[in-house]
Amino acid sequence: MGLSRKSLMQHRRIVIKIGSALLVDRKTGLKTDWLNSVCADIAALRAEKIDVLVVSSGAIALGRTVLGLPGGALKLEESQAAAAVGQIALARAWSQSLSRDAIVAGQILLTLGDTEERRRYLNARATISQLLKLGAVPIINENDTVATSEIRYGDNDRLAARVATMTGADLLVLLSDIDGLYTAPPHLDPEAQFLETIDSITPDIEAMAGGAASELSRGGMRTKIDAGKIATGAGCAMIIASGKTQHPLTAIDAGARSSWFAPSGTPVTARKTWIAGQLQAAGELVVDAGAEQALAIGKSLLPAGVRSVGGQFSRGDTVVIVGSQGREIARGLASYDVDEAKAIAGRKSAEIADVLGYAGRAAMVHRDDLVITGAIPSQRMKQEEIEEGAAHV
Ligand code: GLU
Repeated sequence: MGLSRKSLMQHRRIVIKIGSALLVDRKTGLKTDWLNSVCADIAALRAEKIDVLVVSSGAIALGRTVLGLPGGALKLEESQAAAAVGQIALARAWSQSLSRDAIVAGQILLTLGDTEERRRYLNARATISQLLKLGAVPIINENDTVATSEIRYGDNDRLAARVATMTGADLLVLLSDIDGLYTAPPHLDPEAQFLETIDSITPDIEAMAGGAASELSRGGMRTKIDAGKIATGAGCAMIIASGKTQHPLTAIDAGARSSWFAPSGTPVTARKTWIAGQLQAAGELVVDAGAEQALAIGKSLLPAGVRSVGGQFSRGDTVVIVGSQGREIARGLASYDVDEAKAIAGRKSAEIADVLGYAGRAAMVHRDDLVITGAIPSQRMKQEEIEEGAAHV
């Protein structure tokens, strides 16, 4: 039953997480040849018009090599300083290596709040999608120089999963020195069996990953399974594969051993379920009949189609969208604060900059942030009337 595994090339948007040990050698520093081989693989995916995002670890490892810090555990301020030094080198290495195939890289450093707080989440997502639209490859890491233990992801496996769900990716690839999931740690148990397909992350599967995430198990199987729960729950498949060989992405499609975690739904459905179900509405937008019809066919809500604005909401809060018959027809995340929304309601998108004094977003509620929750009465309307209040932005 269910979904079966596809090749990397059959995906639309792929997040690739790269572990520190693959990129950085303690003694010699950055493994440039290996990095070049990954970038060549990425170029092959980009040539097929597949969006690629990279979550790259290695800032701390590289920084400590550059600074000549001793082995063993680092104090928080030492690892923050190491990250500050290492991140510059890491980003430059990615940028240089991708440029060999004429691909532009853009650096994104995230802190926990950027994916957990809705308003910051929308901001980060908007920047990343703009980079993708421009054909660049986002190179993402945790902002380790400011992250303290209470406010950090701590491991890039879960960070990569958050990025995958945030961007609606359909595949997350975790590259590390482990080639997949085993029923027991293979170096300790000769009976350990390799699992090629994981249809769902059951308590049995979780038990195989060992104890709870901790400083010691960082980057181990535990955080990979946690990442799998985040990704697959939002409709994104996940692959755990070894990055020890050159061209590790090509190797996966060529049949190298790897574990595949089946997605549990489609990204849109999972995300929209989240919007529809989990958040309390902070305000309400009453829309006209044109906007209503446009929403029914999957378009964004533009300010022009909004008749009135009520409640108290900030950008990123959930608002109820009320149709021409006075009933809830949809819910979504507002792109504007309530005062701004009132100021631009009924105005054309081209007027937003004049009214607000800055160029805001074209949509009042973007179609990616919008879910239809009520019946929309069908009406015969001219295409122009529909277009006025909404757009495919
Ligand atoms: N953000 C850390 C770094 O770049 C890595 C965290 C991890 O390896 O999971 O050094």
